[in-house]
Amino acid sequence: PKPAIAKMKEYVAGRNIEEVARSYGIRESDVIKLASNENCLGPSPKAVEAIKEVAGSAHLYPSVDAIELQEALAAHYNMPLENIVAGPGMDGVLETLLRVFMDKGDESIIPLPTFSYYENVTSFCSASPVFSRRKPDYSIDVEDVLNNVNKRTRFIFVTSPNNPTGNITPLEDVRAIAESVECLVFVDEAYIDFSDGSAIGLVKKYDNVIVGRTMSKAWGLAGLRIGYAFVPSWVKGQYMKAATPHSISRISVAAAIGALGDVEHYKRSIDIVRKGREFLRGAIPFRTFPSEANFILMDVSPLKSGYVVEECMKRGIILRDCASFRGMGDAFVRVTVGTPAQNRRLVEALSEIKGGL
Ligand code: PMP
Repeated sequence: PKPAIAKMKEYVAGRNIEEVARSYGIRESDVIKLASNENCLGPSPKAVEAIKEVAGSAHLYPSVDAIELQEALAAHYNMPLENIVAGPGMDGVLETLLRVFMDKGDESIIPLPTFSYYENVTSFCSASPVFSRRKPDYSIDVEDVLNNVNKRTRFIFVTSPNNPTGNITPLEDVRAIAESVECLVFVDEAYIDFSDGSAIGLVKKYDNVIVGRTMSKAWGLAGLRIGYAFVPSWVKGQYMKAATPHSISRISVAAAIGALGDVEHYKRSIDIVRKGREFLRGAIPFRTFPSEANFILMDVSPLKSGYVVEECMKRGIILRDCASFRGMGDAFVRVTVGTPAQNRRLVEALSEIKGGL
């Protein structure tokens, strides 16, 4: 491997239901996964219908650039096509963007703790992640971010709401950063649907702001890998040269368009999260942090995160141990907001685990 890859650790994802059921001798139907911030209502029935309709065309390549999806997104968000790109998950969109802009020896600024894939994609390009520390309330320290900017900086990653902490980044902070730098500011809005507001408006005002989105969360299509971004038009031209051809499958394109046509399901998905979030913050027997996303961060000290995650897994509940997030320590666990029944089961399990010591 090239040296940058040899040094890397593998990406850590949430464990899956089948594997946990097998290892712990629990029926699959009794295992709940609250580890990867998926949609607890499942996909929109309109998306499922669209998948069935397109199955017979599986032998044909999809369009090279998912133009049908770009058009549906343009209509949904009332944005010009020249400002929209799509890819296989936001992960895929990020890979293409960094392929375009990030070269050996370049840098990206990553305020920790946050989503770990920014660091990985930076390494893929033999570039260096530069870490900025967040404030105690996990907000971005704008001054520290700007102090880290130099001629080699290509991206600043601003995650709003942030994963795994759940807080949003105020638009004033995004603006302050965008106005002070020449590099790109990538605002990751994977979870913004569960909050209010968005930085999309800034894409038209600044030629260095990109807003990333995904259909994996509020749109309920994590299994189909669909991401998109709002970009300045000069970025789109370069993106299209570097994107992997045909990278969004026919099934994904059809399902995404089906889901966009089911705003009711989307709204229900957001509503159940907002209510569940409030319930969990009141009922979880550990310190929790305010969240504008579909997950909640818990500080389980004096217990260790690994212990709590393991004890929950024995009870058929998969959670995310945040020890794998750089800069997080070993007392933090992230829980995805589930259905009311799942949330109650989670609270029961956590109360038992806490009471047991
Ligand atoms: N950004 C953040 C902050 C995330 O938490 C995730 C999901 N793990 C992603 C991006 C990736 O989303 P996608 O499923 O669209 O690749």
